[in-house]
Amino acid sequence: MPRRVVLVPCPFQGHINPMLQLGAILHSRGFSITVAHTQYNSPDPSNHPDFSFLPIPDGLSDGQNFASLLNLVLAANVNCESPLRECLAEKQEQHGDIACIIHDITMYFAEAVANHLKVPSINLVTSNVSTTIAHNAFPSLLEKGHIPLQGSTLHDPVPELHPLRFKDLPISRLGDLEAFFQILVNMYKKKFSSPIIWNTMDCLEQSSLTQRQQQLQVPFFPIGPLHKLAPPSSSSLLEEDSSCITWLDKHSPKSVIYVSWGSLACMDAKDLAEVAWGLANSNQPFLWVVRPGSVRGSQWIEQLPETFMDTVGERCHIVKWAPQKEVLGHRAVGGFWSHCGWNSTLESISEGVPMICRPYSGDQRVNTRYISHVWKVGLELESDELERVEIERAVRRLMVDGEGEEMRQRAMELKEKVDICTSEGGSSNRALKELVEYISSF
Ligand code: UDP
Repeated sequence: MPRRVVLVPCPFQGHINPMLQLGAILHSRGFSITVAHTQYNSPDPSNHPDFSFLPIPDGLSDGQNFASLLNLVLAANVNCESPLRECLAEKQEQHGDIACIIHDITMYFAEAVANHLKVPSINLVTSNVSTTIAHNAFPSLLEKGHIPLQGSTLHDPVPELHPLRFKDLPISRLGDLEAFFQILVNMYKKKFSSPIIWNTMDCLEQSSLTQRQQQLQVPFFPIGPLHKLAPPSSSSLLEEDSSCITWLDKHSPKSVIYVSWGSLACMDAKDLAEVAWGLANSNQPFLWVVRPGSVRGSQWIEQLPETFMDTVGERCHIVKWAPQKEVLGHRAVGGFWSHCGWNSTLESISEGVPMICRPYSGDQRVNTRYISHVWKVGLELESDELERVEIERAVRRLMVDGEGEEMRQRAMELKEKVDICTSEGGSSNRALKELVEYISSF
């Protein structure tokens, strides 16, 4: 009988995708997969016919009652523990086939459930390693008064966190500092005893992995990018609009800039107008994802300037949600203006697409710093306010100028390194084999 792995994802798109990709990888290696998920932002079981799904009564309803998304995460950790414990205890009694529980590191309640059931647990970290090294430094940064951030020092380097500046520290803006630190404390308070699966790889973060391994004496499995090792699938919470692929088909190679800021970032109507005119004035074709509700005070794009659509015509295509991996792999896409979520970053790097970086929150700032200053496959929009002139210039730098061509070249070289990591004998491939052996040993 195949051994069962129970997955507990954090209920946001950027966390669900890598967890379900990991599930698909483990399923292809012979494990049965159960996804124990909150009812809030429930994944669609019909996209994953090979998995079984276990909705956990979460008391979160539609998530509207929470002061912030971070408060929602705190509540999920409190509300879900006993329902999951009871449900898995019953299953374990009936079938006794649970090999281990793999949980998102932010869903730390699942570790308590695993301890209760006496089954091993494994953490999945969906950000990069450098972000967790910065988290590790937060207590001393707080003690020294560097957090909350001081305007005057934002551009100064953070001692011992090279290449980060204070403005690059991964502080979340999805809630207040108190809720953010509460989650970090809960995540890291246990002296790490369970192994960690990282959605990263040697060719991007070798020195950070070595440094973090010195801090945490537990097995590490850096098996990223998960979406490259997993069979193709989608775990989108919103419907993907594939009209953009037909639109891309009409464009010449590397001519289109893809613009998308992930599943959580928001902007106001003034920003929307600056972005719209910046893109329009760049004279480059662009595919733009505007998520419903992402412009404050609007359902969708009602607040776009009136003359905008007539001005850009066929040069622009706007969708509510795109099949992003397919878009980034399309020959017509030559650049990606991204908020630099870790999934988007990995998806772009894996296709050799250079980026314009405009981080919104948390680890996106760290990713931006690495993209622009370490891997040198993107440029950062630095100014506090979004301004059409700066946007137009950035798009032209990336899509037209020699500077962009050099970044594209480096992005292609990095893509080749990623391909080596995931192919037979590569570091991610080897780490995956070790992970499979590790889980099989339970
Ligand atoms: N995504 C998508 N279609 C879109 C925008 C995003 O499929 O139109 C996916 C994207 O491929 C990525 C995830 O949503 O896998 C977003 O995760 P990321 O870590 O980049 O950012 P977050 O949404 O967590 O801020």
